[in-house]
Amino acid sequence: MKDKNNGVIVAPGAGFCPGVKKAIDSVLRLEAEGKTPVYTIGPLIHNKQVTDMLEQKGIRAIDELKQAENKKGVLVIRAHGITPDFQKEVQAQGMEVVDSTCPLVKRVHNVINEYAEQGYSTVIVGDGGHAEVIGLLGYTRGKGYVIANADEVKNLPHFDKVNVVSQTTQKEEIFLKAAEAVKAKADTCVINNTICHPTKQRQKETVELAKSADLVIVVGGKHSANTARLAKLCGELCPKVLHIESEEEINAEDILLPKTIFITAGASTPNWVIDKVAQKVKSLRQAAAVKWPAKLWGFIVDNTLYTAFAASCLTYVCMRLSGAKNDIKLFLLSFLFIFTLTFANKKDSVKLKNAFFIPVITGGVLTLFTAFNYHIRVWLPTAVFLILGAAAYPLRKKIPLLRLPGTKDIFTALGWCFVCVYTPAASQGLLMSKSAWLAFTYGLLLVFMRSVILSIGAGYKDIMLGKENFYKAFGLTASKITVWLMIAALTAVLVQLLFMDWKSGLVFMLLLGQVYTISIAVYTYRGRKPRTTASETFIDGQFLFLAFLAFLAGRIF
Ligand code: SF4
Repeated sequence: MKDKNNGVIVAPGAGFCPGVKKAIDSVLRLEAEGKTPVYTIGPLIHNKQVTDMLEQKGIRAIDELKQAENKKGVLVIRAHGITPDFQKEVQAQGMEVVDSTCPLVKRVHNVINEYAEQGYSTVIVGDGGHAEVIGLLGYTRGKGYVIANADEVKNLPHFDKVNVVSQTTQKEEIFLKAAEAVKAKADTCVINNTICHPTKQRQKETVELAKSADLVIVVGGKHSANTARLAKLCGELCPKVLHIESEEEINAEDILLPKTIFITAGASTPNWVIDKVAQKVKSLRQAAAVKWPAKLWGFIVDNTLYTAFAASCLTYVCMRLSGAKNDIKLFLLSFLFIFTLTFANKKDSVKLKNAFFIPVITGGVLTLFTAFNYHIRVWLPTAVFLILGAAAYPLRKKIPLLRLPGTKDIFTALGWCFVCVYTPAASQGLLMSKSAWLAFTYGLLLVFMRSVILSIGAGYKDIMLGKENFYKAFGLTASKITVWLMIAALTAVLVQLLFMDWKSGLVFMLLLGQVYTISIAVYTYRGRKPRTTASETFIDGQFLFLAFLAFLAGRIF
């Protein structure tokens, strides 16, 4: 019953065992027939949802017979069975008695009785305090012993004749080991494996399915012995096991990562509880599966790959402005340079400790490797700025100049302009051209604005920022005004260039791009917008948009 879509397997044999089903059916039938109140001697099963539901119907569990008020109604013996002495006591109450002892438990009563009549002692491998075992002991004629496992055999006397049986829900391996150990202490030993067939089936499928699962969810009452035993068995086969009573205990973080999840349940767990658990697990996993593109995008943005791509886009725009020819290696250089420096200066990446060095060093080496394709006036400053930029965090601690108000945003903008404008211009002999300086100014203003706006978002997210951030040093209002003034100045310059008929097609398109820049400011300043993957996507998206417009300008005009 494997659901291939989400890797959830529900045990085919999960749900009430036949004995429990019969007991539940009988109390519900009695209640439907109006034979109330219905008293069960002890809880029918150890499952809170079921016992709550039964109580609502007037079916009450009692521990002592005197709790049956006015001796009216029906007494129900649960599936675990009771001792013959207690049975007589129950019958003597003068109340209607319904015996719902599971036939498979009755079979064990008979086996014990048969050998006890012949003078055999009885050893029961099971839980001493469990209702079923207490009932079994009642048939041993005072010559019964209970052991939990083979280790406890040393506490037993030597037997002339002994009959070894098991609690019906015992783990088979434990029973067989214990029985062999008892045999060694007896002249005559009869071993009766009385583990019931439904339990054997459940254990068999559990062993098969749990060992190939990454997570097993065992559904059932925390006080249910057979559920606890099932959970223990699963723990020996699977690295992670959750024992829960209902779907409310499921957390998304527990069930999203495991590839295969096996859901099983104790004999006292109703199928509707199992179904609810399975449904919740499946729906959470399906919802998560739908979100995987968002997770991938989050990874790309968080790891600065998107920002690096935005830098390549700005390089393209600035190359169009400065008149530099397209060169794929220059786009790659921008990507690698900005990736390395942004990653190295990420506060989160510092927490990654050793792991953070791998992308930084890899990015740095690849940046230098790409820069070496060019003249010394490209690769030498690239190497110097790369080292200084990567070491900005410790350098800022040591050099007060680097902690001056707003320096971080200025250096960030200069770093971007170095790789987006200087390197293309230097590699193509355009350093002295006016258009290169214009492109430099354009890029500087855009990246400075971007840096301030991102800082504002980081502030709303309670990220600790130093005064080297413009926003932190001058406050929110001053930052907002500065960004608006820059947008206005940039727009004014572009309008003037348009009137001068200087690269009018491209300038016109970049003027359209100002709409995007203005919308970033409006978005950021309306309400307290914390820095998120979505906001970073939107803010850096302006470079992608501008590159698209610059590309269109080349095609249209
Ligand atoms: S576990 Fe087995 S013996 Fe016990 S009630 Fe269920 S079917 Fe009967």
